Amino acid sequence: MATHTGGCLCGAIRYEVTGEPVRAAHCHCDDCRRATGASFATNVFFKEEDIKIIRGTPKQFHHKADSGNTMTKEFCGDCGSQLFGIGSGSTGVRHVKAGTLDDASFVKPQIEVYTSKKLPFTRLSDDTEHFEASRPR
Ligand SMILES: [Zn+2]
Ligand SMILES: [Zn+2]
Repeated sequence: MATHTGGCLCGAIRYEVTGEPVRAAHCHCDDCRRATGASFATNVFFKEEDIKIIRGTPKQFHHKADSGNTMTKEFCGDCGSQLFGIGSGSTGVRHVKAGTLDDASFVKPQIEVYTSKKLPFTRLSDDTEHFEASRPR
């Protein structure tokens, strides 16, 4: 089974993911934009047990999403890199931020969510399915 490694900018936190992502999504929502400081986030979802932190302990920040779900952002307390996200609405899965993977070339985003919030200069990909808000269940 494929194993991929990743970590934060300063190296205090390192992790390993095994297996295939459940899904990968570009998220254009305001929260992802603010939290990452980027124009959108690329969230790669894995089964909870497939993500293993091998060094360090991330700090947590909790906030409410407009869905009403509690979202947890996990980040490095030293360098501020955002590594993981957990949503109370998605049990058993959590995501890693694609930019923290050492080699994210295996990631193939299938969907883009909250496209209604995207910045005017962000172009949607032809290879993804687009949703104006969250992914319908
Ligand atoms: Zn760090
Ligand atoms: Zn988002």
